[in-house]
Amino acid sequence: MFDLVIKNGTIVTATHSYRADIGINGETIAAIGQNLAGKQEIDAAGKLVTPGAIDIHVHLEMPIGSFTSADDFFTGTRAAAFGGTTAIVDFIETQPDETMLQALAARKAKADARAAIDYGLHMTIGPTDIAKLNQLPAVYKAGCATFKLYMAYGLRLNDGELLQALEAIRDAGGLPVVHAENWDVISTLIARNLAAGRAEPRWHPRSRPAEIEAEAAGRVIDLAEWVGVPVHIFHVGCQAVVERIVAARRRGLPVTAETCPQYLLLDDTVYNRPGVEGALPVCAPPLRPATEPPLMWQALAQNHLQLVTTDHCPFTRADKATGLGDFSKIPGGVPAIEARFPLLYSYGARAGHFSANRWVDMACTMPAKLAGFRRKGHIAVGYDADLVVFNPEKSMTLSTETLYENVDWTPYEGVSVTGWPEVTLSRGYVLVQNGEFFGKPGQGRFVKRSF
Ligand SMILES: [Zn+2]
Repeated sequence: MFDLVIKNGTIVTATHSYRADIGINGETIAAIGQNLAGKQEIDAAGKLVTPGAIDIHVHLEMPIGSFTSADDFFTGTRAAAFGGTTAIVDFIETQPDETMLQALAARKAKADARAAIDYGLHMTIGPTDIAKLNQLPAVYKAGCATFKLYMAYGLRLNDGELLQALEAIRDAGGLPVVHAENWDVISTLIARNLAAGRAEPRWHPRSRPAEIEAEAAGRVIDLAEWVGVPVHIFHVGCQAVVERIVAARRRGLPVTAETCPQYLLLDDTVYNRPGVEGALPVCAPPLRPATEPPLMWQALAQNHLQLVTTDHCPFTRADKATGLGDFSKIPGGVPAIEARFPLLYSYGARAGHFSANRWVDMACTMPAKLAGFRRKGHIAVGYDADLVVFNPEKSMTLSTETLYENVDWTPYEGVSVTGWPEVTLSRGYVLVQNGEFFGKPGQGRFVKRSF
């Protein structure tokens, strides 16, 4: 007799689909088999049972200039749970006067008090952290196995600093995850456009050309190859970058990359909308012309891109409106933490771009492997009982009225999906069932990740 049994569902993993019951004891999957009995049972007949989805790129309560992203660790993780996501990876930024371990402790304290699902943290290495690279082994040991490097914004590293950071990450046994853009070119184009009076949001993508983004991706791949370290490229939204990834992987390099729902479902015509509507979808890298999203679906189907994250970073309409006179001042980011997993099912698997197994792979299994979650992202005995009972026929219309994300807009307003989670389990605990949330702030745990 198990504590909990999920009965009669179709288990979908990254490689197989089969009918079986799942027996859970405490926080762990204890058995997979037929006719299992539990003190508590959930009937999943007609439903898919998947691993909890994992989103390894989110920004909750993230300060950017004078703004802070609108979802905190509770509202963001609650929204995630409604959409079937049971683990996230957020970020740490170290202040010049603190050590990386102090910054980790501070960020962890914030998240521990609020997170409703399990989480990990990437350690950001900015220019002032180059003097602290000897701290990386301790940071890795503390459970931050992945290190964020920016090639844009104030935290960007120049090529020499990138080289030093990549070497230190290699020596610590970690994985670099990179925001690849060419900041010198971007800032020159922004200044040129603003000087010419071209200040509307539609000049945002025109200041960040795809070919130049590909140059940056190619440059960090070349540096990583020379250093001898794997590298993961964040938020790929255009074929020019995909081609760099493919070329590297064809040469056998340990290069991986992700895309996000916004690059699959939206295009740059949204920036032409009048007023604040055109400012809302400003994110970086920017949305690309309508020819690109079909290529991103294809790249996912062919495993040229390995996984999908959200880069969830919501700012309110009021925050976005402050940049209406100057597109470069619009706080960047879009929300997607709640709908990622269902959107990928509906518009990816159900639409025939790839199988349900590949859907689970890109949203659950690959993210877990890549980020070093050793007991998540898969359904097998001994794994955390992070599970989703997914109704493949349930239709939903996405809207700020129905989504739990703490932000007053969504790029998916009015978009319908077929397929939505009915039950979300976090380490054996029923976090969401039939649209009701049973979690509380702080029940999510920091997960030490390693390779
Ligand atoms: Zn990001």
